[in-house]
Amino acid sequence: MYNYHALKIKLKDEIMNINRRNFIKGSSLLFGSFLVQGNKSFPFQFPESNNLQLVGKSVGIYVESGGTIGWYVDGDTIVVIDTQFPENAKNFKSGLDSKSSVPINYLFNTHHHNDHTMGNFYLKQFTQNIIAHENCPRLQIKSNKGTDKENQVITADITFKDELKVKLPKENITAKYFGQAHTSGDIVIHFENENIAHLGDLVFNNLYPYIDNNGESSVENWIVTLSKIENYFDNNSKFIFGHANDNNLVTGKKSDITKMRNYLENLYNYVAKLLKDGKNAEEIAELNTIPGFDNLLEKWPGARKMNLSRTAEQLIK
Ligand SMILES: [Zn+2]
Repeated sequence: MYNYHALKIKLKDEIMNINRRNFIKGSSLLFGSFLVQGNKSFPFQFPESNNLQLVGKSVGIYVESGGTIGWYVDGDTIVVIDTQFPENAKNFKSGLDSKSSVPINYLFNTHHHNDHTMGNFYLKQFTQNIIAHENCPRLQIKSNKGTDKENQVITADITFKDELKVKLPKENITAKYFGQAHTSGDIVIHFENENIAHLGDLVFNNLYPYIDNNGESSVENWIVTLSKIENYFDNNSKFIFGHANDNNLVTGKKSDITKMRNYLENLYNYVAKLLKDGKNAEEIAELNTIPGFDNLLEKWPGARKMNLSRTAEQLIK
């Protein structure tokens, strides 16, 4: 049980975009309209229910449906990572607020998929700092074009290529792009002091991953990207994953990343060998087996077949 102080607005957060080598005084630009309500004090009572759980001292997760939401609350500072869907985002926000409406200082999107970004539509009224990789808005718009969701797409207004740092009063955040993987815009958000990182959908823990060729997924690069992430973090780092076969496994450790990389290496090598043996993508999918990895959860029917066919399609190109 944690009690948080009133979420008063202080205009001192700084965001540093290393690539552009300039500083943006994020909060001072954007939170003027919250000043009145921000002066009111109310005790923040951490709700035990409502799918909100702490992972560290100030970092937690919210699980409902879609990709795991990560959050950071300390005093007057709130950071949110991913937004699921509008209704979920509303439930999440009311759970986080408990009693009053408070702004979000920074909202990150780990990547463009709708189960991580559609809730931006609800949360946009609480923040204007939506941060994502530079490829994320383009893919988000493209994947919703011509659908009934098209008008609800809210994209990031701050993007970066390689790395972006946010300095908070008691925490330093580094958001990093390690390379093409699940999409071509997956970022990792690391709360450095607590040593907790949100990996988005770079890890599907114990289930077959969603491989999105239209979203510029690359199994081959995904393996390389995960190796880089394994090298970057230490054995004490804790991780938040977008999806798992069990809600208790949406958080984990470095060995879970290694497990995911091993799966992708097996998948890739197996499919490459079958292609070399003359099989086509359809035949490979019909085999419906990935030796050594037939016991992962199929979160949707045909997930294993889809992993086989999409990997084959990538290799054929
Ligand atoms: Zn995804």
